[in-house]
Amino acid sequence: MKNIAILGSTGSIGTQALEVVRQFPDLFQVEVLTAHSNADLLIRQAKEFQPNVVVIGKESEYEYVKSALWDDDVKVYAGADALNDVARMDCVDVVLSAIVGVAGLAPVYRAIEMGKQIALANKETLVVAGELMTKAAAANGAILYPVDSEHSAIFQSMVGEFQNPIHKIIITASGGPFRGKKRSELQNVTKEQALKHPNWTMGSKITIDSATLMNKGLEVIEAKWLFNVSLDKIQVLVHPQSVVHSMVEYADGAVKAQLGVPDMKLPIQYALTYPDRLPNNFPRLNFADYPNLTFEEPDREVFPCLDLAFAASNEGGCKPCVMNAANEAAVSLFLHDRIGFYDIPRLIEQSMARANYSAPTSVEEYLYIDNEIKTSILQSFNK
Ligand code: NAD
Ligand code: MG
Repeated sequence: MKNIAILGSTGSIGTQALEVVRQFPDLFQVEVLTAHSNADLLIRQAKEFQPNVVVIGKESEYEYVKSALWDDDVKVYAGADALNDVARMDCVDVVLSAIVGVAGLAPVYRAIEMGKQIALANKETLVVAGELMTKAAAANGAILYPVDSEHSAIFQSMVGEFQNPIHKIIITASGGPFRGKKRSELQNVTKEQALKHPNWTMGSKITIDSATLMNKGLEVIEAKWLFNVSLDKIQVLVHPQSVVHSMVEYADGAVKAQLGVPDMKLPIQYALTYPDRLPNNFPRLNFADYPNLTFEEPDREVFPCLDLAFAASNEGGCKPCVMNAANEAAVSLFLHDRIGFYDIPRLIEQSMARANYSAPTSVEEYLYIDNEIKTSILQSFNK
């Protein structure tokens, strides 16, 4: 039995992780479930899985959750500090971080400090503080298993090859809803159009990131830290069918890939059961359904966020944190119909050019910069 904490259990990854847990009742015991504001779903999940603890982020929902779980043997906590505490609990073996955005940074770091096994969906944590996280993981014996489908594919393509250096990583991208469009056609797109992803159903933030290709930029940085490769060894290729989830090329020219239907349950399961492959009833790939698997270069002019992410990671120091904060703020403004599609890269570029912090060395310093950048962007729109 593995005891799991699912941070962000009410989101797209969190609910799919619980579907994986349902498949293997003898393998996993849910110890912790956390949600930011969806109290009703958290309560339903707690009644089904009977965890030791639940955390509701929004403190105003505490009494509601507490009274709903009055008859159940479940402890209820609220607030961001409680999230950090549950990530450290002795009874937890595996922490699945399915929180969106920089809110995942502190709890993941606490879990790493305790040497836990981490199943990481929350890519922003590595984007913002990859060096801090990977060094702490090495020092504390914590292992980071990728949940992101591309990184899971890369990891699966590395099994049996750990002694061989990676020559190149090829990260595939669906291209999102605006693949093939011109810049002029995207000036006035709405959030409804941007939220229509062709292949994946995901949370709203990552879906907008997929439309701008920032998601691929974040994934390039995530891959750099997870697999300890330099950026010049990472190539992005658009593959609209989302069947080849990513690839690794080795010194001899051999390329290994992992393929499957676009379904996050498989990478979630692999992160939780590695090195074992266990039978499940999830959808399977039928090659006859995909007579054409195609690959093309991304359009870096139409989707400038991709190069902004490469630039931020190349510069290092505070820049990936600044880029991520500006992106989170800009995506939130776009989702509230406050800015246009190309204001997203504009705000990120502006923030990166202006920011001049010395390189952060702690979670607190990263969160300070994150807060400053977000506040300055949001204030400039509230005047
Ligand atoms: P989502 O918006 O559907 O869910 C986010 C979860 O985080 C929810 O449970 C929410 O309650 C919680 N949360 C939100 N804000 C919080 C805060 N301030 N403090 C604590 N908890 C908070 O998001 P998602 O699509 O499931 O994505 C989660 C993470 O996984 C993201 O980092 C995303 O990039 C990554 N990811 C998602 C997918 C996918 O298919 N959805 C694929 C790959 C990677
Ligand atoms: Mg991905």
